Amino acid sequence: TSAEKSFVLEQAREHQVKFVRLQFSDIFGIPKNVSIPVEQLPKALDGDIAFDGSSIDGFVRIEESDMMLKPDPSTFTVFPWTPKESKVARLICDVALPDGQPFMGCPRTALRRVLAEADELGYSAFNVGPEAEFFLFHVDEDGKPTTITHDKAGYFDLTPVDLGESARREMVLTLEAMGFEIEASHHELAPGQHEIDFKYDHALAVADKVMTFKFVVRTIAQRHGLHATFMPKPIFGIAGSGMHMNQSLFKGNQNVFFDPQGERQLSKEAYHYIAGLMEHVKAMTAITNPIVNSYKRLVSGFEAPVYVAWSAQNRSPLIRIPAKRGLSTRVELRNPDPSCNPYLALTVALKAGLDGIKRELMPPPAVDRNIYTMTEAERAEQSIGELPMNLQEALEALQKDSVIQEALGPHIYERYMDAKLKEWDAYRIQVHQWEIDQYLTRY
Ligand code: GLN
Ligand code: MG
Ligand code: MG
Ligand code: MG
Repeated sequence: TSAEKSFVLEQAREHQVKFVRLQFSDIFGIPKNVSIPVEQLPKALDGDIAFDGSSIDGFVRIEESDMMLKPDPSTFTVFPWTPKESKVARLICDVALPDGQPFMGCPRTALRRVLAEADELGYSAFNVGPEAEFFLFHVDEDGKPTTITHDKAGYFDLTPVDLGESARREMVLTLEAMGFEIEASHHELAPGQHEIDFKYDHALAVADKVMTFKFVVRTIAQRHGLHATFMPKPIFGIAGSGMHMNQSLFKGNQNVFFDPQGERQLSKEAYHYIAGLMEHVKAMTAITNPIVNSYKRLVSGFEAPVYVAWSAQNRSPLIRIPAKRGLSTRVELRNPDPSCNPYLALTVALKAGLDGIKRELMPPPAVDRNIYTMTEAERAEQSIGELPMNLQEALEALQKDSVIQEALGPHIYERYMDAKLKEWDAYRIQVHQWEIDQYLTRY
């Protein structure tokens, strides 16, 4: 609306912004942007900035390369670390075709589509609280990232101020200056591993925030001479980094997952939603755990899920129901990792949950013991399935799941599949150090 536009212009003036970055996401969740001088801002707000989409991975062919950026005025934010004389702000955009129609290759648009479907079913908000974990590593003399950390701390440890701790404090302060409400930040299990949690928000805002979050964490780490990585399993033998997603559906100001009379005070819809996630999780994994390395995290022993089960208590299953009830009632999906495209991850999760609700699916009984220590026979008895063991298995599951494909839409689905099959193949033919160590002298 014109009121929103003039608010943005006013803000830009007030903060003496000189440049505005128009930001969007490719289908892999890699942030892209074009920078415009602030004089172009009115034109940009009218959605009148074009760019060549053919150079963006998985977007379009050269014959149809003109794309338009439609900024979302509610995303206007000034980057607090930029110098006062040349302040930089950003706007997050939807990508549109030259005629103004939504572009089917835009992940933000895909999420909007599924949100509209939820809205039609009466769910006015899909609220999500993400918990992103990451590592802080040292850089070498040439400024190249390593996988070395000098920090010896572990989960929730209180350490004397070290490099990682002071970097994390500045990350929190910067995020707060950008409008994030930080709920907690702590050292994670592994040396050099951290987590920063921000308050839940509706899904579109949260996906935007995850993009911003990763950018801020990387930027601030760099300023402290550290490298931040959201790679899910940078080091063998210690914990990997997940991005658990706490989810709930609202009707107005009612959390529909809460029912004081229901079993465990959960509503029927909560159970259907859990069952929908479980029904589609194998295909979803191709999106929520999108890289070869994602599957090195999904192994026993590090609080990352391996099996398809849910629990109200323990942390080995795929889905946990945190103890809070009332407005905070939520379903925690634990397989996503921070290398995922947050727009697409939330698109497929919501689609799966809604499918469970529409079909009134019911989950199997909860599994309240440590699944890592169960035998195969015990798991079979309770019909506990397994998550895909590698990217290829996940892609195969996605090829079989028309509901998840529909959530992505044919444009994204086809290009994503194509790129990921190539990624898998490039990995498959490599000779890894492990093979050399095992075989070179033995054969
Ligand atoms: N790092 C674990 C994971 O990979 C989560 C650990 C935790 O937050 N309890 O999901
Ligand atoms: Mg956490
Ligand atoms: Mg954690
Ligand atoms: Mg968690």
